[in-house]
Amino acid sequence: MFDFDAPEGCLKGKKIMVTGAAAGIGRAAAITFAKYGATVLLHGRNEESLNPVYDEIEALGLELPAICPLDLEFAQPEQYEELAALIEQEFGTIDGLLNNASLLGVRSPIQSYDPSLWMKVMQVNVNATFMLTQALLPLMDKDTPSSIVFTSSSVGRKGRAHWGAYAASKFATEGLMETLADELPGISKIRVNSINPGATRTQMRAWAYPGEVPTNNPAPDEIMNAYLYLMSDSSLEINSQKIDAQTK
Ligand code: NDP
Repeated sequence: MFDFDAPEGCLKGKKIMVTGAAAGIGRAAAITFAKYGATVLLHGRNEESLNPVYDEIEALGLELPAICPLDLEFAQPEQYEELAALIEQEFGTIDGLLNNASLLGVRSPIQSYDPSLWMKVMQVNVNATFMLTQALLPLMDKDTPSSIVFTSSSVGRKGRAHWGAYAASKFATEGLMETLADELPGISKIRVNSINPGATRTQMRAWAYPGEVPTNNPAPDEIMNAYLYLMSDSSLEINSQKIDAQTK
């Protein structure tokens, strides 16, 4: 695993949005960030899917989270602005954004890839990520260290047959990360990096590799070191880096 021993309370006082917080890696990140002291803004497709995560954080006696429902497939720019305005009203600023939500699409050759599914994957994985990041950027105080983390994949760093729109969307995600990471230094203290979680025991992994034995892969809460590192002040000097959560 990524080598980082997170100090207790290292996210205390930080307000961090996690997208796709209802399940899988996003859910684990939200609960982990809360355990290390953060107030977490839980994003998910709808309120119902987020309520159990809210309840779990509340039951642990941690900082109460906020619930931010938005369907990334259909949301328009105005809805991102509305969400940002609500967050600003409630919290003023935020200190972190983990862009984690994604759609796998299908494993298929490009030759036969369904164009409407291609566009759906691009909408959720790339366009929505861009619109949310753009809407939330003004909520990051330029003089306070803040962290934006994008979620990539090994197929976003080296293309592989039959990964179609998902692979292309992850290359685009890395491009968005690098572009933003090059724009912000000098005008703000916001740092921008990406994480490749590596094979992790989630619903998406099961869809991508139906023949795999799930327990051969770590559970989401076992890969959190890299996430804690990038969200905590231990990574203040780290910008435009592509980090592997499961590097030895
Ligand atoms: P999951 O499928 O378990 O979780 C994805 C999350 O994204 C879910 O909470 C899902 O919500 C949300 N989401 C998808 N579509 C929408 C939408 N239209 N609107 C709002 N939310 C949406 O995936 P993982 O936890 O495995 O993946 C997390 C990230 O890690 C992704 O970016 C993925 O590409 C990346 N990754 C994962 C790997 C792995 O092995 N698991 C390997 C490499 C990268 P809902 O449950 O409502 O659909």
